[in-house]
Amino acid sequence: MIKKRIAIVGAGPAGLMAAEFLSQFDYDVHVYEHKPSAARKFLMAGKTGLNISHAEELSQFIQRYDQATWLADWIYQCDASWIRQWMQGLGIESYVGSSGRIFPLEMKAAPLLRAWLRRLGEQGIQFHYRHRVAHLDGQCLTIQDLKAQQQHVINFDAIVLACGAVSWPQLGSDGAWQQWLGADALNTFQASNAGVCCSWSSYMQTLFGQPLKRVNAWVNPSEKSIGDIVISHYGLESGLIYKHNRALRQQFAVTGQMNLYLDLLPELTEAELKQKLQAQGKQSTANLWRKIGLDSVKAGLVRELVPKQDWANPTVLAQQIKQLKIDLESFRPIEEAISCAGGVKQSALTDGLELKQHDRVFCCGEMLDWDAPTGGYLLTACFATGRAAAHAVHRCLED
Ligand SMILES: Cc1cc2nc3c(=O)[nH]c(=O)nc-3n(C[C@H](O)[C@H](O)[C@H](O)COP(=O)(O)OP(=O)(O)OC[C@H]3O[C@@H](n4cnc5c(N)ncnc54)[C@H](O)[C@@H]3O)c2cc1C
Repeated sequence: MIKKRIAIVGAGPAGLMAAEFLSQFDYDVHVYEHKPSAARKFLMAGKTGLNISHAEELSQFIQRYDQATWLADWIYQCDASWIRQWMQGLGIESYVGSSGRIFPLEMKAAPLLRAWLRRLGEQGIQFHYRHRVAHLDGQCLTIQDLKAQQQHVINFDAIVLACGAVSWPQLGSDGAWQQWLGADALNTFQASNAGVCCSWSSYMQTLFGQPLKRVNAWVNPSEKSIGDIVISHYGLESGLIYKHNRALRQQFAVTGQMNLYLDLLPELTEAELKQKLQAQGKQSTANLWRKIGLDSVKAGLVRELVPKQDWANPTVLAQQIKQLKIDLESFRPIEEAISCAGGVKQSALTDGLELKQHDRVFCCGEMLDWDAPTGGYLLTACFATGRAAAHAVHRCLED
């Protein structure tokens, strides 16, 4: 009997997870990847320590996603403990860091990817590198063999699109697939987990690359979080900034502005701070600020943002240090973002991630319209939706 033929477009974590699920059945599975090798973004993610998931309680975990209700069932099937077991099956031990983040013991993505690709190959998955899918028409794909410089049009029983979003396009996810689906199926991609831009005076140059340590940051007062922020030539960068990206985007959509607030000395109340500032005596301003806990970076930011006439006013200065407003101008370009919000809309898909306008064509991974902060949530959702799409393919081909 002729095996049913399935195409997976994209050899990133979502596509590979779809391939893994389908490899347990008797299908003819082909993965098309236009780069010369698989999962370049996944490997890049491993450069600074592959944070593959998070060990927090599942109900809290789910709430990290802006599309929590949409993703919940799939993530319950493919949660952090499932991912850890799956890694163990590939011979990769993992550990939970002090923040709850989960990493492979070796921190890197390469050993995991090597073991995974080897196993997928042994399970019969056929990889076609340097093969670019140029067009989708029904269940037909136009595939360009970039090495042989040939083009093929092939019909498949089912197709899984796992093409990624549009950040770091040099690693493969260039978003060209958006033309195949049409504007109605898509929410515009926006930078997520990205640095933010503001205009510094030349005075700030000496602080570029330096961290504001243990500051409390918020956009909405109900969502404050403590961490470090790095001052850069374009503005601000760090995981703490990424955490507030979504709120900043929402604020911009409503008000046309993006304001971030910082409490530079979260250990002190405003009253305590005011009292300390009142005890200036004959001390210089620099000395006093150092003694109350403003290191050179925090003091530099105060000098930049608080008008000089307020420095000697303990009431106003205490207020400013506890609630320093930074007017932001934009996010860094989407090409530099860790991930993207936007993508294929939930309304364009069935509950099984099949495109309503394209029978037997399924989508998964970061090309879908969901967003989450860093912390392992991105990869978890890519794995979970990759499995979910593959599961739906199997259900559909079984019928
Ligand atoms: C610097 C950096 C660090 C990160 N760190 C983390 C982290 O620590 N933890 C975490 O959870 N997430 C992290 N991420 C995010 C994570 O890597 C992505 O969310 C994830 O890789 C997305 O997986 P995907 O399979 O959906 O898409 P991708 O990984 O983008 O894979 C899509 C694949 O499809 C291929 N493709 C696209 N179009 C075509 C086409 N027409 N024909 C053929 N092939 C095509 C691409 O070449 C690519 O290989 C990081 C991202 C970056 C950039």
